[in-house]
Amino acid sequence: MVALGSRLSAAVGGTAKVLEEVLGLRTVGDLLRHYPRRYVERGKLTPFSDLVVGEHATVFAEITAVRMKQIRPKLHKSDVTIADEVGGRMTMAVFNRRWAVEKDLKAGRRAYFSGKVELFNKTVQLANPDYQLIDDDAGVVAEEFAGALVPIYPAGAKAASTMIARSVRAALAVADLEADPLPPELRARHRLMSLEAALRAIHAPGGWPEVPAARTRLTWDEAFVLQVVLAQRRAATRELAGTPRPARPGGLLAALDAVLPFTLTAGQIEIGGVLAGELAQAFPMYRLLQGEVGSGKTLVALRAMLQVVDGGGQAALLAPTEVLAQQHARSLRTMLGPLAAAGELEAAESATRVALLTGSQGAAARRTALAETASGAAGIVVGTHALLSEGVDFADLGLVVVDEQHRFGVEQRDALRAKGSTPPHVLVMTATPIPRTIAMTVYGDLEVSTLVELPKGRSPISSAVVPRVEQPAWLGRAWQRVREHVAEGRQAFVVCPRIGGDDEPPADGKRPAAAVLDVLPMLVEGPLHGLRVTALHGRMPPEEKDAVMRRFTSGEIDVLVATTVIEVGVDVPNATVMVVLDADRFGVSQLHQLRGRVGRGVHAALCLLVTDAEAGSPSRVRLDAVAATSDGFELSRLDLQQRREGDVLGSNQSGGRSSLRMLRLADHEELILEARAEAVRLVDGDPALEQHPALRQAVVDVLDEERAEFLDKA
Ligand code: ADP
Ligand code: MG
Repeated sequence: MVALGSRLSAAVGGTAKVLEEVLGLRTVGDLLRHYPRRYVERGKLTPFSDLVVGEHATVFAEITAVRMKQIRPKLHKSDVTIADEVGGRMTMAVFNRRWAVEKDLKAGRRAYFSGKVELFNKTVQLANPDYQLIDDDAGVVAEEFAGALVPIYPAGAKAASTMIARSVRAALAVADLEADPLPPELRARHRLMSLEAALRAIHAPGGWPEVPAARTRLTWDEAFVLQVVLAQRRAATRELAGTPRPARPGGLLAALDAVLPFTLTAGQIEIGGVLAGELAQAFPMYRLLQGEVGSGKTLVALRAMLQVVDGGGQAALLAPTEVLAQQHARSLRTMLGPLAAAGELEAAESATRVALLTGSQGAAARRTALAETASGAAGIVVGTHALLSEGVDFADLGLVVVDEQHRFGVEQRDALRAKGSTPPHVLVMTATPIPRTIAMTVYGDLEVSTLVELPKGRSPISSAVVPRVEQPAWLGRAWQRVREHVAEGRQAFVVCPRIGGDDEPPADGKRPAAAVLDVLPMLVEGPLHGLRVTALHGRMPPEEKDAVMRRFTSGEIDVLVATTVIEVGVDVPNATVMVVLDADRFGVSQLHQLRGRVGRGVHAALCLLVTDAEAGSPSRVRLDAVAATSDGFELSRLDLQQRREGDVLGSNQSGGRSSLRMLRLADHEELILEARAEAVRLVDGDPALEQHPALRQAVVDVLDEERAEFLDKA
């Protein structure tokens, strides 16, 4: 018997090398968790019309003709024509291997062929395929295909599906499948088969009905182990000693509340209460605040930060971009006014300071900010990832706020946490609304709060697609709308996918997307002539970006032609119109974020998505969906359906994406909920998994994988 954690060579010998190289399979367990993509019924010919160019495919077909040619002394070619059951024909070129072809490939015989599907002279063919003969007459079937269903594996150039099937069978014969990570009571409650039964059924099903049951069981493995990891993390956080920062009457928070120019929304009040309570506890808060763009998350965070400052601590606000860090520092200082002017003439009593630390600021500014951070003079320190670097020391870091969390990984969060003398409280904010399943998986070690309503007095954003191909005149009307808004004293964004200048031209032969540096002169000389139009993009030096944003905020610029540097957080309530050029180059969530830059004030707002994508094309369908709804949750669900799990989870996020094979966040919401409840129950009773050795091992494997991925990246 061979343990699942053993090197693959223990079960499959020399083939292990190829499997590792081509498919990254290292252990016996890795191989057994390389599940078939689909199955074909034995003896049933595969319709060729199902084949997808570029994929590795296995087809069962009948040979109708073989033509052999000696092309050059050392190059022999056989054209093997095969047929499917509906009269489809396909020719495969087999090079050399003459002896095998003469012996095996005769008209009338049936065989499995696997190879890469390619387009040659406009016809589909399998390139230099592997084949496996089936001797129908004698009823003797190659051992690989002994089952009623033939598993077809995700394959690679040097690892055909048939070869994988052979290796899997060898592994199943020797592997020790006794230890089951799912405890028996759990299996009984959810009517799940054992690991051993599931692995045998998934690789060698006796019939179709076995497949879904095996899949469900193996999906449970992934969901449950992940939820156990996350439950352990939450439990570990509760074990940490933190510094309580209870609210203090008469402090900065009370002073801010007294001068706020608006009333808090019900959600801001409710979540504010939750945060106030958790900050007062003796273990660190660890909470995700998600909320629709413009829902007022920053204010919620600021109020929490002030509570911590009132309690003698400091708060760090980590932003994903330079532009956003600058904007946060600016708007916090404005909002706080005299409350953030400690040491200055107009300072209020008990005032603090807001420091800004970014990677590229001048040496003098940096020195001042570092000193204010180290001495504690700055109660609030705003910055980009530069905050994480060595040499940034806090007097007493009590709260870390991470804005737009999707840009940060777990490691970065942890690096910042390590800067407190006791682990600081952590508040993570994201404006990308995430469906419940992702919240529970990607952010599963955090508690989640959601701000659903927008502050009162916001007018809705109307959105429309501007199809340049079908309606060439509409683009002109779009610029006209920009002029109308500006004439009424409003401002506009024009968003381009590229900066331009020394950009690489796209390799795929597509027309290069609109670029800021090309669009700006075009607009100034053409449709937006006479308006104050300025560029903003990531290649500009930080001071210049900051200056442009400041001028835009104060209304000295009418139209900002920008890249996605404005995607997150930029808050200029007077901006009411946005034109996104080549909008199909952006993802759904990204467009929703971009659109969130307008409609932040009382004036009606407009978002125009310009595209060359044709009606009915997938890109156009996405754009139509974005134009049709401004519900971020609905859009993120759509986004999730269109992207692979790996992209969604991101390699930075907790949980390790490569451990997910069966689990589909979009499809398995119910199952994830159940697995989470089971995981919480089990970890509560047995935090170190002492009574569950097989589960403990599975957890170790997931964490190892995560760590390996992290090292690969680093
Ligand atoms: P986001 O959640 O996208 O980060 P912000 O925190 O930037 O949103 O808030 C968007 C705008 O709404 C800001 O200008 C902010 O000052 C304003 N705002 C926040 N809370 C309220 C409120 N309760 N009433 C009115 N305006 C508010
Ligand atoms: Mg924000």
